[in-house]
Amino acid sequence: MSGDEKWRRRFQRKAVSVEEARRLILQYAAVMDAEQVRLEQSFGRVCAERVAAAEPVPHFRRSGMDGYAVRAEDLAGATPQEPALLRVIESVPCGTVPALAITPGTAAKIMTGAMVPEGADAVVMIEMTELAGHEAQAAAEAGGRAAAVVAVKKPVPAGANVSAVGSDHPAGELLLAAGARIGAAEAALLASAGRSTVAVYRRPRIGILSTGTELLPIDAPLAPGKIRNSNAYMIAAQVRSAGGEPVIGTAVSDEPAALSESIEQLLESCDAVITTGGVSVGDYDILTDYLHEWSGTLLFTKVMMRPGSPTSAGVHRGKLLFALSGNPGACFAGFELLVRPALQAMLGSAAAEPSPFSAILAADFPKVNAYPRYIRGRSWIEQTAVYVEPMGADQSSRMYPGKGADCFIMIPPGGSGLPKGTVVSAIRIQT
Ligand code: AMP
Ligand code: MG
Repeated sequence: MSGDEKWRRRFQRKAVSVEEARRLILQYAAVMDAEQVRLEQSFGRVCAERVAAAEPVPHFRRSGMDGYAVRAEDLAGATPQEPALLRVIESVPCGTVPALAITPGTAAKIMTGAMVPEGADAVVMIEMTELAGHEAQAAAEAGGRAAAVVAVKKPVPAGANVSAVGSDHPAGELLLAAGARIGAAEAALLASAGRSTVAVYRRPRIGILSTGTELLPIDAPLAPGKIRNSNAYMIAAQVRSAGGEPVIGTAVSDEPAALSESIEQLLESCDAVITTGGVSVGDYDILTDYLHEWSGTLLFTKVMMRPGSPTSAGVHRGKLLFALSGNPGACFAGFELLVRPALQAMLGSAAAEPSPFSAILAADFPKVNAYPRYIRGRSWIEQTAVYVEPMGADQSSRMYPGKGADCFIMIPPGGSGLPKGTVVSAIRIQT
């Protein structure tokens, strides 16, 4: 390759905006196929079916209190001085069916969650009642089941403390849509709907290939000029947090031959591949040359973002290849801004675009840039306002990609930096 050609490839790249880059990628982020898993295996996975309630919840009239099931009209006019006196005909624990219907002048003792007897239309909480002693006649009439009279000191409206059939949700109601992440609330809904298995999207297998002659395995002792390969593990953690299954390939040195074989192997065995390093303008940036010769389709080779402007992506036989910068900060940002949305789309999420929030910049940001800058920061709420603050130096070359950062602060290009107090957009970091 001529020197001119190499120069052209490195410096004459057409930059696309982050939004355009995302749009290009999302076109190829095909939804994964589904697999059935047991409910207890589904936590943290993404639901791949529409789950509708087969039955109403609750499916019986359910008491919301410990107390007495009554006919509300029997309590009309009750006061502490002149309570309504009701004969207690039975006691209804949870999980049982009341044997007797409530008729005028009677009540049944009932526990929270138990089935409200027929004839009753309200439950009086126990604190509003007093047992008015035993009555031999009542005991005889109730067949020995219960023999008390309860004094109720206040009226209650019909329906009080009785959860109607279907009041949580009726039969047929949509409980979960495809794309919903199964967390605690979703697990409870599925369990209460009797679903011991659920369809979830298969976790996309994401190949991770680090490039760089300087890289050492993480268990190797340090050697002059060498660094341990932290990017592979950082990206693997990001893949996992985005719902994917990371497959860490053996890092390759800056050798074109080794690179193409490794990328091809990973593309073959995975659903998408992420490379790190080698995509910039240096002499040994082999990804830059590899992508140029690649048989896949390049989507972009430069993105209007700092850090990470050389970030590139392409698609080959329907599989996405992301070439992220080697600088840990840039690598991290490239994943969050471009790869995570793709994984979300592959996992059936309708909202794969990050949704920015507005916040007040709590410190001056003096740096100016030609491209939008994404600085790792932390956010907090004070009174009713959200503040964000950059976390230390944000140079992309820093090895330490912002432990504890919870957002990217977006600094628009141009101008002369932003003073403290400016309202900025920020994106939550989800790892
Ligand atoms: P590159 O994008 O290949 O030019 O890499 C830029 C810099 O990022 C390198 O000089 C390393 O300091 C650092 N770097 C590259 N790859 C890794 C990696 N896998 N883990 C940690 N740091 C890396
Ligand atoms: Mg390199």
